[in-house]
Amino acid sequence: MAATIGIDVGGTKAIAVVTIADRIGTNRAVTDVGDADSTPDSAAVTHRVFRTHTSRGPQAIGDLIADLVDECRAATGEHPVAVGLAIAGWLTPDRQTVIVAANLGLDDDRLPDRVADRIGVPVLMENDGNAAAVAESRFGAAYGSRVSLTLTVGTGLGGGVIVRNRILAGARGLAGELGHLCLDPDGPPCACGASGCLEAYACGPSILRRAVAAGVAARTPADVVAAARSGDVAAGAVIVSAGRALGRGIVQMCAVVDPEVVVVGGGVAAGAGDLLLDPIRHAVAEYLPLRAITSPPHIVAAASGPDASAIGAASLAYDAASLAPDAANERNYR
Ligand SMILES: [Zn+2]
Repeated sequence: MAATIGIDVGGTKAIAVVTIADRIGTNRAVTDVGDADSTPDSAAVTHRVFRTHTSRGPQAIGDLIADLVDECRAATGEHPVAVGLAIAGWLTPDRQTVIVAANLGLDDDRLPDRVADRIGVPVLMENDGNAAAVAESRFGAAYGSRVSLTLTVGTGLGGGVIVRNRILAGARGLAGELGHLCLDPDGPPCACGASGCLEAYACGPSILRRAVAAGVAARTPADVVAAARSGDVAAGAVIVSAGRALGRGIVQMCAVVDPEVVVVGGGVAAGAGDLLLDPIRHAVAEYLPLRAITSPPHIVAAASGPDASAIGAASLAYDAASLAPDAANERNYR
C-alpha cells in the first residue's frame, strides 16, 4: 500500500504523519461538497512521529525533515509517493520558495527542491495555517462546507480560507493571513511590520503576556487556561478578551468571504474549549455584518487536533504527485 507523508515543521516541534496514499487525496471529498449526508473521509493516518527540536537554518531544517522521513519509512516499511511540508512562514505564490520563516531560520530558501533532491520523492510545501485549513475542510470540522475559515491559535495566530476544498491563495500567495487582520491601527507593533494585528491580541504568547500583566501567576498559556478554569477572574477575563478579539476579526472576514463554518484550532484553543469559543460566538453575533439578512457562521472546535497541518500537507502532496501540475493546481488552489 502506497503512503504519503505530511510533516508539520514548527519552531520547536515537528510532527510527521504517514497516510494511506489514495485516501488522503481529494478525489472523493471534492464531489461530496455540499452533500449533507456525506461523512468525512478518514485521513487514514497509519503512523505518527512527534519530535521537539531546536533546528535553525537550511541545513539543519533539511536534516530534520530527512530524518523524519527516514524514521517513517523504517517504522512502516513504506516508500512514500510524495511528501508534504507545512511551514510556519511566508511562501512565494508557486510554493517553491520560503520568503521568510523566522522561527526556522529560513530566508529566500528553495526548501522543497532541496528536500526532494535528498529523499528522492516529490515534495510539496504549504503554509501551516493553510494546511490545517485543508485538513479541517477535507477531513475535519468544516467537512462538506463550501466556504470555511480555519484559525489556529497557538504560538502565533495562523489560518486559512477554503473555498470548495481549495485554498484561497491570493495573487501573491499571502491570502488567509488571518492573524494579521488589523484590529487597531494604534495597537501594539507586530512582527509583520504593521500594528494592532489580531495576533497581538489572541495567540498564546499575547494571552500569557496580558495575564501576567493582570497579576495571574502563569508561565505558559496553558497555565492561564487552567487558572481561568479554576475560577481566577483575571485569567478568565484575559481569555474572554482574546475570544472577543477573535470574534471581531472573524466578522471582518465574514464581510469578505461569507463562510458557513469557522473552525478554531491550535493548542491554545484546544485547551481552552468553550472558554474561548463562547466569547468568540458572542462577539460574532454582536458585530455580524448584514445581520438583517443573514445568520452567523457556525463557530466550531477543530477536529483534526495537533496533526491538522501535517494531514493537510499530506493531502496536498498526494494531489500534486498524482495529478498533472495544472490539474493539481486546479484541485488545490483558487
Ligand atoms: Zn501583523
